[in-house]
Amino acid sequence: MTATALSLLNSVFGYPAFRGQQAEVIAHCVGGGDALMLSPTGSGKSLCYQLPAMLRDGVGVVVSPLIALMQDQVAALAELGIKAAFLNSTLSASEAGAVERQVRNGELDLLYVAPERLLTERCLQLLASAKLALFAIDEAHCVSQWGHDFRPEYIQLSVLHERFPDVPRIALTATADRLTRAEIIARLQLEQARVFVSSIDRPNIRYRVVEKGNARKQLLGFIRAEHEGAAGIVYCLSRKKVEETAEFLRDEGIAAYAYHAGMSAEARAKHQRRFQREDGVVIVATIAFGMGIDKPDVRFVAHLDLPKSIEGYYQETGRAGRDGQPADAWLAYGLQDVVQLRRMIDQSDGGEEYRKVQVSKLDAMLGLCEASDCRRVRMLAYFGEASTPCGNCDTCLTPPQTMDGTIPMQQLLSCIVRTGQRFGAVHVMDVLTGHDTDKVLHWRHHDLRTFGIGKDRSVPEWRAIIRQGIALGLLVVDHDAYGALKLTPAARAVLKGEQRVPLREYHKAEKATRTTRRASSDELVAGDDVALFERLREWRKRAAADHGVPAYVIFHDASLKEIARRRPETLAALREVPGVGERKLEAYGREIIALVE
Ligand code: ADP
Ligand code: ZN
Repeated sequence: MTATALSLLNSVFGYPAFRGQQAEVIAHCVGGGDALMLSPTGSGKSLCYQLPAMLRDGVGVVVSPLIALMQDQVAALAELGIKAAFLNSTLSASEAGAVERQVRNGELDLLYVAPERLLTERCLQLLASAKLALFAIDEAHCVSQWGHDFRPEYIQLSVLHERFPDVPRIALTATADRLTRAEIIARLQLEQARVFVSSIDRPNIRYRVVEKGNARKQLLGFIRAEHEGAAGIVYCLSRKKVEETAEFLRDEGIAAYAYHAGMSAEARAKHQRRFQREDGVVIVATIAFGMGIDKPDVRFVAHLDLPKSIEGYYQETGRAGRDGQPADAWLAYGLQDVVQLRRMIDQSDGGEEYRKVQVSKLDAMLGLCEASDCRRVRMLAYFGEASTPCGNCDTCLTPPQTMDGTIPMQQLLSCIVRTGQRFGAVHVMDVLTGHDTDKVLHWRHHDLRTFGIGKDRSVPEWRAIIRQGIALGLLVVDHDAYGALKLTPAARAVLKGEQRVPLREYHKAEKATRTTRRASSDELVAGDDVALFERLREWRKRAAADHGVPAYVIFHDASLKEIARRRPETLAALREVPGVGERKLEAYGREIIALVE
């Protein structure tokens, strides 16, 4: 009997069914067709070349720039009983020689190769001497000269098509914009390839924006309440803040490590490795931490500073929950973020046009933060995808109350006008709330009619109104004038009472977070299950250490949770748990049954 893709999915990977477009892509590739697959992180792209490589004659060659991960990827395949190896600069000559022999003898199903290695004449000749099942070009967006992951070697990968015209190729990426897509097709000569595009939505990620107070404390509260002991990434804007935040979390007993471009390469590699391989490590990073993270069980991505664009935010938060399990994207933001990012743009070297684009990206990000409607709908719309309210973001779960904010907005705008549009938010708020600071007295702003007209609202509340004013396009922060708030032409209609302004009802930051709190192991109902889950995790840690692989390579959290819930007492029952394939059943089945008992 010949194996089918579905039977291999079940027996080797232990999964009952294909997801999304997997079945179609796999059938196409098994049939020898070229493919370009654009599909979000965590959607299961790897299977789309792994299964065809196993089903077709010969070895499947996977080109990937992520050298640091190859060893783990190959180890994960070995755990499943798949014959795989890698070739990159981390191997000694004799180790590489052994792999080359395996390739020549047709002993491998999958070979992972770094692009620069693949392009050597030695490697091309090696491949010419072997039977090839397919080429998989992973992270295919690396051919794009406009993207930030550009790799010059990727452009030369067109040589594969020229040297091996009969070997099917599948290019894969999570970057789905049209420009990148066109570039991949042109540069890799994939004009004949069938293109598979899926929705970029990541339904298991819950998006949440909280108002920034003491951000580090808020972050700690969030981790304690919802993600104690889980792996997560915390993004900060500056290296200094990265260092401070990591230290703060460590002082609180959380295994947190810094990662930024100012650190030595070894220190960075060490922290990344910890994160990748150990359970429950939190990485605090600048955006330099990105490509090369292939950890499926990242449970949260937190931002302590406002990202510069929705593109960046979506990419960064997308590193959470690749295993499809519930994950959180948590962002704390405040007025100061807006001011700071605007200053960075205004002071940047880029030309006028460049700055305009950056400003509009920031405005979109701000609009997302200030939204009262579904955040996911907004983000997908930004990328050109229509959708309906998701039920899994903060604004869907606890819809903010809106109020008629015309009067406070008018008070704010007129206060800005009366003080000459020359002052920043702090001073404007002092005047509004009737604080006679030295600066107020110096400028005689206590004589203004707007002095104290807003004293029935707190400073944080005014800050929220200012942010919404910026997001609504009524106000701008002008850095040529030291961060002064200025009115836009759109503000006139509001001041004249011709346009009403809906604003969010103000809630204190702590209150807002408490209402959306969620237990980290909420799918596990009884206390016993949680205890068993923890025991299973302990067991997995030991097994991973024994085998020298990351914990998730042994079993994903999802599988352990399912075991804790079902409490299988026989191997047959254990085999029914998703993620338990034949090889793992054989290797670990008895130990797990013993634990359950
Ligand atoms: P991508 O490369 O698209 O980011 P991966 O290939 O790493 O995603 O897959 C993400 C996770 O989903 C992996 O843990 C994988 O085992 C799991 N997965 C993939 N396909 C299936 C499936 N059909 N059923 C269940 N889990 C799957
Ligand atoms: Zn929503």
